[in-house]
Amino acid sequence: MPNVLITGAASGIGAGVAVELARAGHHLIVSDLNLAEAGAVAARIRDGGGSAEAVALDVTSDDSVARAMEALSRPCEVLINNAGLQLVAPLETFPITKWDFLVQVMLIGTARLTRAVLPGMRARGFGRVINLGSIHSLVGSPYKSAYVAAKHGLVGFSRVIALETADVDITVNTICPSYVKTPLVDKQIADQARTRGIPEAEVVRQIMLKPMPKGVFIGYDELAGISGFLISPLARNITGQTIVVDGGWTAQ
Ligand code: NAD
Repeated sequence: MPNVLITGAASGIGAGVAVELARAGHHLIVSDLNLAEAGAVAARIRDGGGSAEAVALDVTSDDSVARAMEALSRPCEVLINNAGLQLVAPLETFPITKWDFLVQVMLIGTARLTRAVLPGMRARGFGRVINLGSIHSLVGSPYKSAYVAAKHGLVGFSRVIALETADVDITVNTICPSYVKTPLVDKQIADQARTRGIPEAEVVRQIMLKPMPKGVFIGYDELAGISGFLISPLARNITGQTIVVDGGWTAQ
């Protein structure tokens, strides 16, 4: 089973997908800004009988990426670009430094990491890059200009790198979930309630679950299942694609 490096894997989707892929037999490289928390996720995987290591990795820093690459005990055969953050504010009051930072982490960070692992993937003749897009790779929502722009950018990025790697068994795809109940979303519920002046329960009901005909949050197991399939030989010709997991949001 190929080794999997996940960025931003100390929390939420990254941690959840890491645990599930380890259970399926992959060695996990759990990376995050927060090494202590990444270490705790790796320890949880090992305690459950899986194989994992933790590494400090800031996707906005060339030095940090270079150090992380040197520290790995095994090659990165699958890269899941998952690190991300959100800020909810109208454009007029959105600090431009924060706008820049969101794009640095989610779009430029993805390019930086992919660029770092591609030569090794090419040399081994195999690789899988999975980018964590979002429903906001396809649709807009008010007050999320930086996030939506970065996530739309990932779709174009994946298409281009899919073409650049089409001569070898490397694929590059973007998974686009609607809402998953993670610490990022918990914070956003509070922020949206403040920005819109409505109760938190109303944010969950009206803004998050109402656009999804299925009416429920997406689970980590679903995202891990799709990732597992994309890693498998059966998905060797699925590349440059946008895989949407949105409970029917965009079917309307
Ligand atoms: P989260 O806040 O629970 O976890 C994000 C992780 O990214 C944190 O551990 C954080 O330390 C890490 N991180 C932030 N900046 C980093 C950096 N510069 N370098 C390395 N790590 C960094 O968030 P989550 O909800 O699990 O989101 C994970 C990804 O999934 C994000 O890209 C997010 O946009 C995407 N996503 C989330 C949802 C959702 O509803 N939660 C929906 C669609 C897409």
